[in-house]
Amino acid sequence: MENKITGHTRLAALFATPIRHSVSPMIHNTAFQTLGIDAVYLAFEVGNGGLRAAVESIRNLEMMGANLSMPNKIQAVDYMDELSEAARLIGAINTITNENGKLTGHNTDGIGFMRSLEDIEVTPLGKKMTILGAGGAGTAITVQAALDGVEEIAIFNRKEQFFPKLQEKIARIAKSTGCKIKLHDLADTEQLALDVAESEVLLNATGVGMKPLENQAPIQNFSIIRPNMAVCDVIYTPRETKFLKEARLRGAKTNNGLGMLLYQGAAAFEKWTGQEMPIDKIKPIIE
Ligand code: NAD
Repeated sequence: MENKITGHTRLAALFATPIRHSVSPMIHNTAFQTLGIDAVYLAFEVGNGGLRAAVESIRNLEMMGANLSMPNKIQAVDYMDELSEAARLIGAINTITNENGKLTGHNTDGIGFMRSLEDIEVTPLGKKMTILGAGGAGTAITVQAALDGVEEIAIFNRKEQFFPKLQEKIARIAKSTGCKIKLHDLADTEQLALDVAESEVLLNATGVGMKPLENQAPIQNFSIIRPNMAVCDVIYTPRETKFLKEARLRGAKTNNGLGMLLYQGAAAFEKWTGQEMPIDKIKPIIE
């Protein structure tokens, strides 16, 4: 990297652990350099214990802002001065903006997913989606889809101990957004077939399909997938999960989680700099 760091250079950062595998520094530093913005983006190994001090340093060091990943997305909510509407409904943030010391928490994961659908020319607005998984990624996407104007969302999660809590959370999101959202047991394959038959998009937002579950898929009956429907995965390692491969073989339009990763970063970048991320420059380096 050409060294152009000066006394004016500003800092943006990622606070997470583990962190050394992250592609976010490459994404944001390439964008800063391409647009000639005098800033750098660094990854800091920060867990729950160091998070409060790390967030305070955004104010003290007059940083542009920060990104958060596991395990900090929920805890950081408590340290914000304000939350975006999506962040409030999700209850977790991945981006912090700093306006003269006022820290606002945003969640751009759902924005990233919704924008990634444009790459496969799919618009679920006014239509129905089926989402497998109501964890962090699934909730962020559900909230953003509802805020953007998706009419109906069927969510399937395994019936684990948090299921009643999930039901309450989903009911709150449905009430606040006016979107019809229902939560079902992932084991209810009949209901799943009914919902998928009406859906424009079927999304895997579980961790099933990546290590250590890389040979598994979140559904077993792939005949419910129609040709030309959109089938997406939040996972990007591997680039094609078993779920996406089966969907592609049935003629579905498929999309892995790389687009979501790229565009959640682009949304954060745009909030920090007011400029559009140069996507064409960045896409090739993460693919
Ligand atoms: P999480 O722990 O909050 O949620 C995990 C979800 O997967 C839950 O719904 C859980 O019930 C479900 N699940 C886990 N194991 C399962 C199994 N064996 N069978 C059925 N369901 C199972 O995690 P998260 O933060 O939501 O992450 C989920 C996935 O999304 C991960 O693979 C993560 O890497 C990916 N992700 C991708 C992006 C991106 O930008 N592409 C962003 C965030 C997360």
